[in-house]
Amino acid sequence: MDEFKLNFQDTATAFADKSNFELKEKYRMFRLLNSRALTNVGITLTEIAFRLRLPVRGLIKRTIFRQFCGGETIEECDPTVEKLGESKIGTILDYSVEGKSGGAFFDSTKNEIYRTITRAKEDPNIPFAVFKVTGLTSYEVLEKARGDKELLKNEATEWEAVKDRVLELCEYAHSLEQPVFVDAEESWVQDTIDALVTEMTEKFNREKPIIFNTIQLYRHDRLEFLKQSHQKAKQDGYILAVKLVRGAYMEKERKRAAEMGYPSPIQPNKEATDRDFDAALNYCLENVEEIAFVAGTHNEESVCMLAEKLHEKGISHNHPHVYFSQLYGMSDNLSYILADNDYNVSKYVPYGPVKDTIPYLIRRAKENTSVIGQVSRELDLIDKELKRRRI
Ligand SMILES: Cc1cc2nc3c(=O)[nH]c(=O)nc-3n(C[C@H](O)[C@H](O)[C@H](O)COP(=O)(O)OP(=O)(O)OC[C@H]3O[C@@H](n4cnc5c(N)ncnc54)[C@H](O)[C@@H]3O)c2cc1C
Repeated sequence: MDEFKLNFQDTATAFADKSNFELKEKYRMFRLLNSRALTNVGITLTEIAFRLRLPVRGLIKRTIFRQFCGGETIEECDPTVEKLGESKIGTILDYSVEGKSGGAFFDSTKNEIYRTITRAKEDPNIPFAVFKVTGLTSYEVLEKARGDKELLKNEATEWEAVKDRVLELCEYAHSLEQPVFVDAEESWVQDTIDALVTEMTEKFNREKPIIFNTIQLYRHDRLEFLKQSHQKAKQDGYILAVKLVRGAYMEKERKRAAEMGYPSPIQPNKEATDRDFDAALNYCLENVEEIAFVAGTHNEESVCMLAEKLHEKGISHNHPHVYFSQLYGMSDNLSYILADNDYNVSKYVPYGPVKDTIPYLIRRAKENTSVIGQVSRELDLIDKELKRRRI
């Protein structure tokens, strides 16, 4: 077998579709994010400005929004979808409006998700649609629906409504044969989400992987959950489809567990998360004909390990059951180099009105400053490319 190595330092490929201007702009943004103090000041000022209704929308749209979001509407994302597509990178339109509630909002979110499913079906550059169950109902209802607390009458009605919303979306995706991801969220609502999504996969993954659940390997019980889900799918005769991620809510999870006095569901350290994440990738790869899976990660070691193992095992790089995925604006070196080597790659492209995507942008800014090394890695790569271009 030939020695196969991917070179994620190849910045010429990683930034091939960025103009000098775009590259310099990206550099400025990541330099800002590299400073925890400046990022915190930026976050606070943004929150105050929106509370005081100051006209900062334009400024935000031209700066951080443009780095991490595709636009305010599906149509505004069209140029991004096309540009990524030219580099063989798929788009996943992620409607990122957060922090709102009420039946009317949940119904309008459902209608927007419908539009993303329709848009995905029309365009080979959009391999997946995605939604969050907490965009379709309140946390309280999902938490209570776990079964350990009794639902009040209005909550029981809302619970029926969310089940209908999820069923309608999945039925629609299935009717179009359009694969769709369901994101994973905090552990206190995830049991309910898992139960709902499992029911959907049983119904709609009979012939093809259509509904993808998400598994967070920063939870110490999830590798086992993946294996059990696989056994269940085999027994019941459907295809398991999963997006594997490390998990985004670590601090919140640990804090709540400490405050409420229950054992934290999170792994004891990063090494344990890494070990289970890579074990989950390997497990899926070993069962690649029975499990369709997506590696949702910016971790270079995990990406390398999976890409190289696929190659070593003689499995085609673009096997229809294996996908890599990153977030728009982050880890372009992974996405572009994987795509250049014919792997299936896609990027989450968040969109929505500027004001409503602020919680998402703040999470990205905080994550970039808290995930050690993420920003400095990005900065080093951009710097290397600026030097290579002599600009
Ligand atoms: C395409 C895509 C889709 C995603 N979808 C979801 C989703 O549906 N739900 C969701 O929760 N997240 C989701 N995420 C975010 C993801 O869970 C991670 O937060 C993020 O990608 C960082 O992890 P990493 O593997 O990229 O990189 P790394 O930098 O290698 O890992 C950082 C992650 O490791 C874990 N970690 C860090 N320190 C410790 C510690 N001390 N102990 C234990 N664990 C630790 C945390 O999960 C942290 O986020 C998604 C990410 C991508 C790229």
